[in-house]
Amino acid sequence: MNNLASKISRQLQQIPKSGIRDFFELVQGRDDVISLGVGEPDFSAPWHIREAAIYCLESGNTAYTSNLGLLSLREEISHYVAQYFGPVYDPKTEILVTVGVSEALDLAFRALLNPGDEVIYHEPCYVSYSPSIVMAYGKPVTVHTRLEDNFALRASDVAAAITERTRVIVLNFPTNPTGAIEPVEELEKIAKLAVEHDLIVITDEIYSELIYDDSDPSKVPSHTSIVSFPGMRERTILLHGFSKAYAMTGFRLGYACAPNILTDAMMKVHQYSMLCASIIAQKAGIEALRNGAAEVEKMRHEYALRRNLMLDGFARIGIPCFPPGGAFYLFPDISKFGLSSKEFAFGLLEKESVAVVPGTAFGVSGEGCVRACYATGRAELEEALVRIERFVGTLG
Ligand code: PLP
Repeated sequence: MNNLASKISRQLQQIPKSGIRDFFELVQGRDDVISLGVGEPDFSAPWHIREAAIYCLESGNTAYTSNLGLLSLREEISHYVAQYFGPVYDPKTEILVTVGVSEALDLAFRALLNPGDEVIYHEPCYVSYSPSIVMAYGKPVTVHTRLEDNFALRASDVAAAITERTRVIVLNFPTNPTGAIEPVEELEKIAKLAVEHDLIVITDEIYSELIYDDSDPSKVPSHTSIVSFPGMRERTILLHGFSKAYAMTGFRLGYACAPNILTDAMMKVHQYSMLCASIIAQKAGIEALRNGAAEVEKMRHEYALRRNLMLDGFARIGIPCFPPGGAFYLFPDISKFGLSSKEFAFGLLEKESVAVVPGTAFGVSGEGCVRACYATGRAELEEALVRIERFVGTLG
């Protein structure tokens, strides 16, 4: 058949390939590389969680589940979300189990958007927000966050971006790629804007458990989600999953909590496109929520130590880096070296075999910075710092 490219949908043709993917194709197959690139825990899922998956298979539990997900998992989610985030969701009608937060994001956009509807989100941000919005025929509207604000989102910038076509605001705190946390006062102002303009908020809470208190790494700081502000439960879709806190990326398990009308609409897409999440992952998810808290805390504590190691390292080398409050990323400012973030990342990879991601992979406002993921062993992080120091030493 001729001209296969013209057979691809126009909507999809608008979407560029992920900037991260290009970069990682270069890293593939090179075993000398220390990767601070991939946003994935280096831990395996805790053993008792893997055992629950093994037991599921061993006992011949290999069928579909309810489209919404196993009720016993939804009950655990309801309990967990009430404890951690505040609002209580009915496990029978207000919780939908999905194939990761990735699927939940796609469902939410497809459920909410009519062609041309605008979705506001803060940038630099997770690479799939914009493509997922476009694939749902929405219009992405970015609000830039700034290094000088430690990449927190200014409510006044959100207000300035709202138009008659705005339908949704997407928030992600702690943020991928910056690790930023939103000050509670700004979050409250954004909540007020959502109420005033009758907007839906999608809050991507995937890094919520990975937060740090600089005064004491052993202390678990409290996390505030926008859903806890007055008037927000009825207009928020809370997305969360197991990938980051439980180191369960390969299980592909997430969930959406929202008022029934919204989960019902998302469910329509889910039941025809995905049917249900894997039963093996769901059984593992039940075990994670029932008995996983101590392991999450152990990993969080280790990330806190690594974060401080990297922050100290960048300070010693003379690369400015704000101390982010969460996730497992640092977003150091490399602008003083006179290279673009892409040139810096490619140079570091080529000369010293350390992979970091150019800030621009997460949007234009990431220029001047690179993302360094510290979900890697401490010995490797120390070696990466030695190599980074050597590399910047050559930049004059
Ligand atoms: N949201 C953010 C902000 C992420 O960083 C990621 C993965 O990196 C996801 C969602 C996707 O998560 P999941 O593995 O649950 O699909």
